[in-house]
Amino acid sequence: MLATILRGPGDVRCEEIAEPKIQKPTDAIIKLSASCICGSDLWPFRGLQPLDGPMHMGHEYCGVVVEVGSAVKTVKPGQFVVGSFCISDNTCPHCRFGFQSSCEQREFMSGAQAPYARVPLADGTLVATETMPDDDLIPSLLAVSDVLGTGWYAADAARVRPGSTVAVVGDGAVGLMGVLAAKQMGAERIIAMSRHKTRQDLALEYGATDIVSERGDAGVARIRELTKNVGADSVLECVGTNESMHQAINCARPGGSIGFVGVPHGVELSGEFLFSAQKNLLGGPAPVRRFLPHLMELVLTRKINPGKVFDLALPLKDVAEGYRAMDERRAIKTLLRL
Ligand SMILES: [Zn+2]
Repeated sequence: MLATILRGPGDVRCEEIAEPKIQKPTDAIIKLSASCICGSDLWPFRGLQPLDGPMHMGHEYCGVVVEVGSAVKTVKPGQFVVGSFCISDNTCPHCRFGFQSSCEQREFMSGAQAPYARVPLADGTLVATETMPDDDLIPSLLAVSDVLGTGWYAADAARVRPGSTVAVVGDGAVGLMGVLAAKQMGAERIIAMSRHKTRQDLALEYGATDIVSERGDAGVARIRELTKNVGADSVLECVGTNESMHQAINCARPGGSIGFVGVPHGVELSGEFLFSAQKNLLGGPAPVRRFLPHLMELVLTRKINPGKVFDLALPLKDVAEGYRAMDERRAIKTLLRL
């Protein structure tokens, strides 16, 4: 089969590799219905994350189970499934507390920008639908696997409640999903920080009530102005740079909460800064498995349309163009047809 391999910075290709096989009794093999490129795939693509060798790309997936190992009990061949980008057993103490992304047996999914993928710990990672979903729901179900689950976690970690004032730092796909999540959680005011017209428009469609195009200190000043000098109750940090992290913390009111889901690159926080800020911080890789059943239900009943975040769809063989389009910010998120 053709699969996506990153060989070095800027060098991503489709190459012929062997189809995945069951390696452990807890594995499942799925035939993907579609795949996509994640904003976090751009870090190694840009050379900002070291490579140990050729990297099998792709960690967002949904599709039909074709084979399961002998120990797998909850999913079976023929079922449509969505899984998290974090592999988990869903039984260890961290999983039971809802932090499946810190599972004692955690692995990160890879190799999903391909027609078939192996999913380890299938019972703890995959959730099956009752029936085969309609084709037009595939992009939204694929989004649940990471980008929506991550935006949702940012809002959950930032303690968004009915009536909250929320600020979202970052207008990438995760930030836009954070806007959608905050709206679903009943936020009254959702301030999206974005300077790009198409992303502002999608943020407004997903429920943003205000747009702030300034960033850094100017962005913080604008949030203060919009909140009568108080700051936001909840801030979603969806970028991962030093500037965006400081911006996010400074946008929250004292006692407010920051959910940070941008993979940090060069973020440095001083003890004095954190001490005097007096705010709640929770972040990390999203425990998407905790949210999967609820988010799949919202998609299957057509209450949300996260799939709209895909503004470019390409055949898998053109995957390199998909990376370039996202790298150059010509596309928010690329869907790969298999
Ligand atoms: Zn676990």
